[in-house]
Amino acid sequence: MKPVIALVGRPNVGKSTLFNRMTKSRDAIVADFAGLTRDRHYGDGRLGDREFIVVDTGGFEPDSSTGIVREMAKQTRQAVAEADVVIFVVDARAGLSAQDHDIARYLRTTSKRVLLAVNKAEGMRDAPQIAEFHELGMGEPIPVSAAHGQGVRSLLEVALEPF
Ligand code: GDP
Ligand code: MG
Repeated sequence: MKPVIALVGRPNVGKSTLFNRMTKSRDAIVADFAGLTRDRHYGDGRLGDREFIVVDTGGFEPDSSTGIVREMAKQTRQAVAEADVVIFVVDARAGLSAQDHDIARYLRTTSKRVLLAVNKAEGMRDAPQIAEFHELGMGEPIPVSAAHGQGVRSLLEVALEPF
């Protein structure tokens, strides 16, 4: 069985861009506005001779109770349930948000292994903005730039290490 990696995070942090990097595909919809990728979206990835499956998700708002947003949250919960490892994506440029804390709280209620990827971190490797995400209690923040392809390989190496 190929390990399944789920990408989770609030809208617009770069999940779909990261999905495209990990799968070398252009299938996920990358939006300049929040919440366009509304369904779970699967892709095949490969790191050396190791194969894996990536699941992209729409934005996650765990406390929302209506309509499309509720459906997105449900899809995300299902993606987390089927995942072997969750990559929780946050935005280095936007900084820590209340929504990030909500998602961290939700992820702690699952028994999943979670890695914290701080995206949009091009040119910010050792910046204090990265260290700030320690506060989420999700382990060492891993800086990546999905758009520039930086840090994605080492993120995948950590993600796939147990498999
Ligand atoms: P999603 O809603 O989490 O799936 O986010 P998207 O992948 O649709 O990206 C949202 C926006 O962030 C788009 O304008 C992307 O081009 C931009 N973006 C994604 N990754 C990066 C990155 O590594 N650096 C920068 N500066 N922008 C990025
Ligand atoms: Mg998306």
